[in-house]
Amino acid sequence: MLVFRKIHDLKEHLDHLRSQGKTVGFVPTMGALHNGHLALVALAKQERSVVVASVFVNPAQFDNASDLDLYPRSEGNDVDVLEGAGCDFLFLPAVEEMYPGGAGQEHYDLGALEHILEGAHRPGHFQGVAKVVDLLLSIVRPDTIYMGQKDYQQCAIVERLIALKGHSTELHKAPTIREADGLAMSSRNKRLTEAQRSRAGLVYQCLVSVQAKKNLQSFSVVRKECEGILAHKGFQSDYIELADASTLEPLENYDLNREMVCLIAVRLGDIRLIDNLVL
Ligand code: AMP
Repeated sequence: MLVFRKIHDLKEHLDHLRSQGKTVGFVPTMGALHNGHLALVALAKQERSVVVASVFVNPAQFDNASDLDLYPRSEGNDVDVLEGAGCDFLFLPAVEEMYPGGAGQEHYDLGALEHILEGAHRPGHFQGVAKVVDLLLSIVRPDTIYMGQKDYQQCAIVERLIALKGHSTELHKAPTIREADGLAMSSRNKRLTEAQRSRAGLVYQCLVSVQAKKNLQSFSVVRKECEGILAHKGFQSDYIELADASTLEPLENYDLNREMVCLIAVRLGDIRLIDNLVL
């Protein structure tokens, strides 16, 4: 695996490969890699001739300075596991390489999607996501970008960004990889204490109960039950919401005529966990 820290060098290499007719799959990450990330690399390897991963903790998408400071980093291990997974190129830029002179002021028209769910709780977050993904897509120019459904709203934002900026890249949304107790794998899980970790599977259990009760009860009743169970175990719920699975339009109650998704964000101490399930 070749490691690039400079935009120019990576672009040059990829242009050369493209001129030989190779296709490019791209897996953007913020590092502290786990099996969820590696599943994306495996998919990219199946579908494209060359796999590029990036590790960049993007300051522009953090609305909270201490969350950025405490975000887990493990560069040496990330290089090793990507190499082991058969990744071809790793892009590992410094902040100054990505944002010389600051993150810039371009505003992306992301529509209503920007301000609901995660957007309502993390102001500016999706502008920061759009900024970095737009920049990465213009550098890597992949045929396919691989992203996880774990970040359901982020996938919708990136779909909108691709259309908005006319990138010739398709988005491949990959299923969420979970621990044995159902907890969605996440770099932030590394910060959970043992006691917190032992309770964290409850988030997935709530999603499963929202799914199981869709023919039986109103969503407001099921949500109240979930909020109660989570609060009892020390979680603070930012939201438990039901939405249309393709538009993310909020739904008051189950609508069995549409595909729905339930999205949850909770906090355990200062660690925030998100998850979702298509019902
Ligand atoms: P992150 O490093 O958290 O920014 O994630 C990088 C990419 O990996 C994003 O597209 C995430 O949605 C995806 N991802 C993170 N966790 C998982 C998971 N448990 N299963 C599948 N994809 C994931």
